[in-house]
Amino acid sequence: MNFSAYLKNDAYIDGKWTAAASDKSFAVFNPADGSKIASVADCGKADTERAIAAADKAFASWSALTATARAEKLMAWHALMLAHENELANILTAEMGKPLVEAVGEIRYGASYLEWYAEEAKRVYGDVIPHSSGDVRTLVVKQPIGVCAAITPWNFPNAMLMRKVAAALAAGCTMVAKPAEDTPLSALAIAALAEQAGIPPGVLNILPTSKAAEVGQALTSSPIVRKLSFTGSTEVGRLLLEQCAPTIKKTSLELGGNAPFIIFDDADIDAAMEGLIASKFRNAGQTCVCANRIFVHRSVHPEVTQKLIDRVQRMKVGPGDTAENDIGPLINVAAVEKVEKLVAGAMRAGAQVLIGGDRHAAGGLFFQPTVLDNISNDMEIARSEIFGPVATLIPFDSEAEVIALANDTPYGLAAYFYSRDIGRVWRVGEALEYGMVGINQGIISSAAAPFGGVKQSGLGREGSKYGLEDYLEMKYLCLGGIAE
Ligand code: ADP
Repeated sequence: MNFSAYLKNDAYIDGKWTAAASDKSFAVFNPADGSKIASVADCGKADTERAIAAADKAFASWSALTATARAEKLMAWHALMLAHENELANILTAEMGKPLVEAVGEIRYGASYLEWYAEEAKRVYGDVIPHSSGDVRTLVVKQPIGVCAAITPWNFPNAMLMRKVAAALAAGCTMVAKPAEDTPLSALAIAALAEQAGIPPGVLNILPTSKAAEVGQALTSSPIVRKLSFTGSTEVGRLLLEQCAPTIKKTSLELGGNAPFIIFDDADIDAAMEGLIASKFRNAGQTCVCANRIFVHRSVHPEVTQKLIDRVQRMKVGPGDTAENDIGPLINVAAVEKVEKLVAGAMRAGAQVLIGGDRHAAGGLFFQPTVLDNISNDMEIARSEIFGPVATLIPFDSEAEVIALANDTPYGLAAYFYSRDIGRVWRVGEALEYGMVGINQGIISSAAAPFGGVKQSGLGREGSKYGLEDYLEMKYLCLGGIAE
């Protein structure tokens, strides 16, 4: 595989590639075959403190640049990411497992945040508010928050970091990022390109580590770090929110989901199947916006079931670097065991396996694309994020019933539904308690749109003009002494 010069082993702190202070390293494995790809610096508290100090020092000059000057650097970085998309995709597939075509898609999607925020940061408008006294003017300006921390997951090792870093840097903030232990190489490759694009030392720092809690503690307890942006599980998000409380840090949390995917009786069934396959099986089902509970109107249930089985039967499972494969391995043994346990529990509770249901013959971390019928909303598999290629079908009879079922979860990230009835489209769109709703659409992510959840799926938004606000503080200037 062609990894090129962007496969890095060191941490990136203050513009330098450096070993961990402890001189320790940890191994990164390829989930497709268990082979070791690299040994990377295992950062700890001392490295984190050094990175925070570097980001603090860099903030003064980076935030003082004009938005246009920062945008030029972000666009240079954007061009480099696209020019090297194949090398980046190879690294991503090697450490994470997704098919190469999806990895290239992720690199382009990740890079699109650089373009979007390079443009958007030029439009950070303030405000002038009329005052009741003629001698006073009320002004509002927006300023970058300061040093930001990012903690990112393994399922989109490029895009989840780009989403944060592009908005932060465009706004004038600096960043210390901790990628997931399974996938640090994509983050280091991103930093290598940032360096090449002329992003100054200290503006972006990357700390690979196998000691997430130690680095997380150092980031969240630091009074210099003004904001934390986290993508990952609700459980860890809750813990980090607690850790941010003593220093009253701003937080953006993009947490777990439990997406309903509703197919009404008036839906365009073929369009719904396209959307469902993309939403459910992309990334082997390992996305927080994956269809997790598929509600099918009883009258179209036989047709949907048959079409779904036909599609799933044709899916090819195997290593992501082999062109014809649609479904790669799951990320690690714990992920496979979790999916296995959820499927077994569902079967004990009365679910019926229509296809799949087991580990794949390819061995290792591969799981068969699976369709389960007779699922009910109270089964464990319908209460948890499956994070695997398992489609669970739940029949329903009425609109009111399915809305109640869809909302009956502590999560509120993404929801999807298919209907051609304009009144229903509006009614259901409003009634679903989710931050994002795909209507006749299974793939909803875009740099131009606000990504984020309600309820226990998170705080804040990423992407769009709203995502920039998460990295800005509002300051009110009261200007007196106007009158002569
Ligand atoms: P997942 O279940 O998808 O792996 P996690 O929430 O465990 O999600 O992981 C998301 C990110 O959070 C990863 O970068 C991981 O290393 C990090 N993480 C996990 N536990 C902690 C912790 N105690 N403190 C800080 N970061 C953590």
